[in-house]
Amino acid sequence: MSYVGPDFEPPRPPRHPLRGPLIVAVGALVPGALVGWLVWQAVGDSDEGRDGSAAAQTSASAPSSVLPAPSDDGKEQTGGTAGQSGGDEDPGSSAPAGSGSLQGKVVVIDPGHNPGNFRHPSDINRKVNIGTNWKECDTTGTSTNAGYTEAEFTLDVSHRLRTILKKAGATVKFTQDGDRAWGPCVDERAEIGNKAEADAVVSIHADGSAAGNRGFHVILPGSVHSGAADTRPIVASSRDLGERVAGGFLRTTGGPPSNYIGDGTGLDVRTDLGGLNLSTVPKVFIECGNMRDTKDVSRLTSGAWRQKAAQGISEGIVSFLRG
Ligand code: ZN
Repeated sequence: MSYVGPDFEPPRPPRHPLRGPLIVAVGALVPGALVGWLVWQAVGDSDEGRDGSAAAQTSASAPSSVLPAPSDDGKEQTGGTAGQSGGDEDPGSSAPAGSGSLQGKVVVIDPGHNPGNFRHPSDINRKVNIGTNWKECDTTGTSTNAGYTEAEFTLDVSHRLRTILKKAGATVKFTQDGDRAWGPCVDERAEIGNKAEADAVVSIHADGSAAGNRGFHVILPGSVHSGAADTRPIVASSRDLGERVAGGFLRTTGGPPSNYIGDGTGLDVRTDLGGLNLSTVPKVFIECGNMRDTKDVSRLTSGAWRQKAAQGISEGIVSFLRG
């Protein structure tokens, strides 16, 4: 949770995901993340709570490629693989597919928050201009009830993600690595990606919602044009990136997509986040789970699960960069 989110809306009735043969029929019509979820639902366990409540702006529109069935959860996956788009070769890169295929590509990883933010309240509460509005520089982020902080979580996932992407040949930059007292502010986080002329930026987070709200969602920039914010050139590419990241994450972690945001798509669109509004390069956020839900916490606090999370995010990025 890196931001002041929208106020919760009244709860919606529980959703009942489609099952069985229907997944084939809908496969070509729904976003990849949802297809993966349906597949997962068909083959996985089904004891997930889905007392869905607040649903923010949803976004399912552009279809994307049908995803394969999820891999065996019991096996750790190795880094540097793209592996989901039907074995597409890499027309946009001079390097061969496989190891090193991301030579020349720049990925900026934005680990949400900073472990030191809570010691600098006046600094992180300072308002910065996000084009459409003024918002706090940053927040402390959330934590589990046992005190595992979002800032610690995001750095861990980001380190794992960096390792995988570097193996694939990418140049990887961080917005912060716990190597500064606080921050950066959200406007600077965007600026770091812009100045790096990043091919893709992913901001890593975990949410701090009510218990019972579960699952991941990827936040895509909505179209804004106000002040210093003009996301119009990156809306489509960011959606492509976000759908692939959601699909990869779903496949490696088994989901579930959020039951409280995004209507089961695992995708959300927002126009109130400075880190997205001020970006001039393809960028998404991922909220990997809810640090206030015990089922999600059991995953978020597992190193093995975080490795799967990083692997899934990396697969989405690799797929996006290889076109
Ligand atoms: Zn956050």
